[in-house]
Amino acid sequence: MVIVMEETATEEQISGVIDKLVRLGFDIHRSTGVRHTVLGAVGEHDIDWRDIELLEGVKEVLRITAPYKLASKSFKADGTKIKIKDVVIGGREVVVMAGPCTVESRDQVMAIAEIVSRSGAKVLRGGAFKPRTSPYSFQGLGEEGLKYLRQAADRHDLLVVSEVMEPSQIPLFIRYVDILQIGARNMQNFNLLREVGRINKPVLLKRGPAATIEETLLAAEYIMSGGNHEVILCERGIRTFEPYLRNTFDISAIPVFKKLSHLPVAADPSHATGRRDKVAPVAQAAVAAGADALLIEVHNDPDNALCDGAQSLLPEQFEQLMHRLRLIAEAVDREVAPGVEEAVR
Ligand code: PEP
Ligand code: MN
Repeated sequence: MVIVMEETATEEQISGVIDKLVRLGFDIHRSTGVRHTVLGAVGEHDIDWRDIELLEGVKEVLRITAPYKLASKSFKADGTKIKIKDVVIGGREVVVMAGPCTVESRDQVMAIAEIVSRSGAKVLRGGAFKPRTSPYSFQGLGEEGLKYLRQAADRHDLLVVSEVMEPSQIPLFIRYVDILQIGARNMQNFNLLREVGRINKPVLLKRGPAATIEETLLAAEYIMSGGNHEVILCERGIRTFEPYLRNTFDISAIPVFKKLSHLPVAADPSHATGRRDKVAPVAQAAVAAGADALLIEVHNDPDNALCDGAQSLLPEQFEQLMHRLRLIAEAVDREVAPGVEEAVR
């Protein structure tokens, strides 16, 4: 365990922490840096590290025994910035990825791409291979869907993110998309994780509906251990005892991921809530909580959508949300790209 003291920590506070750790049975190695005093606590004692974190003068406590290494903040202190063409995920800008749940036709995806790009989105989302709970539900257009996404994105200067469901689809995805999405249901599909770890395209990794934060970071570790370090974590709601909405959005996962890992963090308020009227407040909260990107479902005719119409924003709702997000982003020292309307103002 490594304890980093605040710059302003007093000698008395430092001694207090050392005394407590010695009482708990640790050997302490103290080093005084230019700014921070760092205490290395050596020993295999099962303690609640939060007790140390709460001591006066402690800035942070790093468990160097975390089971994930490459994904952890102790491996890389600075936040990872993923640059794809002229879009940077993990920088000052909160990148908005938007589009339909699933690609239904060329016209549909063309129309939605125009809408979301006009409002300031940078990435077009859309499923071509859909993981549906029922085998009788629409399963996606397959390669045709990927083609339409690419064409629509290129026309409107957007990137493409789409969900890959199995290793054999990866070569196809490499041809058409900029970011490969691993869906919540596949977060622990270890073969798939290993295979996307061997490519050099960014991966958006959704948290499983019943996965802990540590399990999510271990899923990221699977990808990273294959050599692909461009992973974006995505909180999309977990299953709890609360049945009112589709899932329970774990807002606190955002600052926790950011504390434990250097990877950028995205939030998906659409799948988290499952209802259009709840998407905007959760999206706003996610930006306030430090999300680096948002994944939002938008549809030009949600009443007739083949999938997830109820949670898809109408174009005007999306436009309004983007406006609000810009205000919130500014308040937390971030920014959201202007839409066409703002740009000409
Ligand atoms: C999706 O983004 O289209 C999707 C299926 O999400 P999730 O895997 O989070 O359910
Ligand atoms: Mn969906």
